[in-house]
Amino acid sequence: MINMNEALEKLKQVLGERVQVDYPLAPLTTFKIGGPADLYLEARTADELLEAVSHARLLSVPVFILGGGSNILISDKGVRGLVIKNLTKHIGIKGMKVQKQGAKEKKIVFVEADSGVPMNMLVRFTVEEGLAGLHMHLGLPGSVGGALYMNSKWTHPNGYVGDCVYQARVVTVTGEEKIVPQSYFHFGYDTSTIQKTKDVVISVVFALEATDKAALWAIANESITHRKNTQPQGVFTAGCTFKNLTHAQSLMAKTPNGTLSAGYLLDHAGLKGVSRGGAMISPMHANFIVNTGKATAKDVIELIELGQEKVKEQFGITLSEEIERVGEF
Ligand SMILES: Cc1cc2nc3c(=O)[nH]c(=O)nc-3n(C[C@H](O)[C@H](O)[C@H](O)COP(=O)(O)OP(=O)(O)OC[C@H]3O[C@@H](n4cnc5c(N)ncnc54)[C@H](O)[C@@H]3O)c2cc1C
Repeated sequence: MINMNEALEKLKQVLGERVQVDYPLAPLTTFKIGGPADLYLEARTADELLEAVSHARLLSVPVFILGGGSNILISDKGVRGLVIKNLTKHIGIKGMKVQKQGAKEKKIVFVEADSGVPMNMLVRFTVEEGLAGLHMHLGLPGSVGGALYMNSKWTHPNGYVGDCVYQARVVTVTGEEKIVPQSYFHFGYDTSTIQKTKDVVISVVFALEATDKAALWAIANESITHRKNTQPQGVFTAGCTFKNLTHAQSLMAKTPNGTLSAGYLLDHAGLKGVSRGGAMISPMHANFIVNTGKATAKDVIELIELGQEKVKEQFGITLSEEIERVGEF
């Protein structure tokens, strides 16, 4: 059995010149926080992604797939093992079928996207093709892979990215490559099976319905306006810190009109504008933590714990984190 340092050295040799050592990760995240990766590699094609994942796994080196870095808090000590920045970028129409619905016909178009494709690029592509299903996600930061991992969502109007997944190509922790249907992911609120299995998504096929392009752009643009009106803009953040409440929790906290908003509880616990070091709870949206310039992961964790403590004290509810902590904490 070889130790971690030997395994890293071997992996470095196998991956060759493209691999970088002690690579700073903070600039690759929307928080702009965190230490370096032991080893770092950029994968530009699905084959490069697959190859790097399998080499690392053969040598038992931990692998972290970095998409847009928009839902993670990287530790100040950095990340052990290999970090692969997913820059795969193919998008294309794969086929179509006509579905009969009584007297009406529905045209379903299958769009394939590499997991590294930015969600915004995919949404714009599908809307421009007049395909419904992902249009409400205009403005969602991050990659297709990250959106499947989190089953990212939007509420004006409601939609989950997982809703229109048809199938995906994944590689499992044992190195098995397979095509899996939507049901494989067990998509739920902020969850999908791959959070547990650690499968890596290589590419995804979405099933989208052909419809009126102008109507889709109207909804997509409305999503952007709603984001601008409700979320802090132009700041370093990883979006919502905590998951929203379950219905049982909202009953327990007696939230008005049964709102499930974690931000509501944080706001009513008086946390807007509170800061620790360089991190601050956004004065605009209490569920957003902002890096005001020189925040460390430690500062953010202190605010997370403060938020949990105050909400528990006042409403008897333990908020769970939506942001994922990555690396050594
Ligand atoms: C301003 C702002 C607004 C946001 N608004 C929303 C919103 O409206 N709705 C919402 O749901 N979220 C929102 N988020 C959170 C975030 O954008 C989403 O969760 C997004 O889908 C994360 O994608 P990513 O590529 O950035 O993932 P990353 O942060 O890079 O990674 C997150 C997790 O996904 C895993 N992952 C990434 N790619 C793959 C892959 N190919 N295979 C397997 N695992 C993979 C990573 O390893 C990691 O565990 C927001 C964030 C910000 C900063």
